[in-house]
Amino acid sequence: MGVLWEKQVNCPICKNSFVAKNIKSSAVKVKERDTDFRGIYEGVNPNWYLVWVCPKCYYSCFREDFLSIKRKYVAVLQKDIQKRNAIARNSDFNKERNHYLALISYELAAHCYNITDGSKEKIGNLYLKASWLAREVKIWSLEKKFLKKALQCYLQAYESEPDLKMDNSLIVYLIGELNRRLGNYKEAIRFLGRVYDDRKGRCNLEVRRLAHEQYFIIKEIIDKEEGRKEEENKKEESI
Ligand SMILES: [Zn+2]
Repeated sequence: MGVLWEKQVNCPICKNSFVAKNIKSSAVKVKERDTDFRGIYEGVNPNWYLVWVCPKCYYSCFREDFLSIKRKYVAVLQKDIQKRNAIARNSDFNKERNHYLALISYELAAHCYNITDGSKEKIGNLYLKASWLAREVKIWSLEKKFLKKALQCYLQAYESEPDLKMDNSLIVYLIGELNRRLGNYKEAIRFLGRVYDDRKGRCNLEVRRLAHEQYFIIKEIIDKEEGRKEEENKKEESI
């Protein structure tokens, strides 16, 4: 038995009929998780197939949203096909996915949500997942680009979207953690501290534990840096 299940789908934008592939949840085995929740899997990576892409017009989004696109956006997406072609660069989405196709699928989906007023939280999730794919192929410049975009979206979501799907402590943690990964330590401390300092106990315990760990990792880096500066100042003074 394969790890994929298939569904015949009619694209709501161009009416093309295609086979959308999905990973069977029973085939997904998580070995570990990074501190930004990237799963490390035994065997198949489910993140490769989270986004459905029409192979003809490159309309893309998460599986659960694909067929429920609002009528007012159909025309918007029909007119936008050239931009999607430019992002897709002739990629063949009839083929099985690999890292590259998965990454393109996230970029296409982020673009589609952007032009159809999708939530910043959802677009942030797409960029975060894109950064994971870049990490898996060890291209830091690309990972950084997507981490920055994810962070920007999560900040906007946190400030302006009242009905977040994720828990409040989780988004604050992610804002802190992505800042940490990008080397913005002061900002990271500010957000991680909010989760770890939560005395009312509203935070998810696992998230709070992670925030606590990351907070002290940064504190150590900052303290070392400050210690080094002090040493240098003393040397200068004694000359
Ligand atoms: Zn289509």
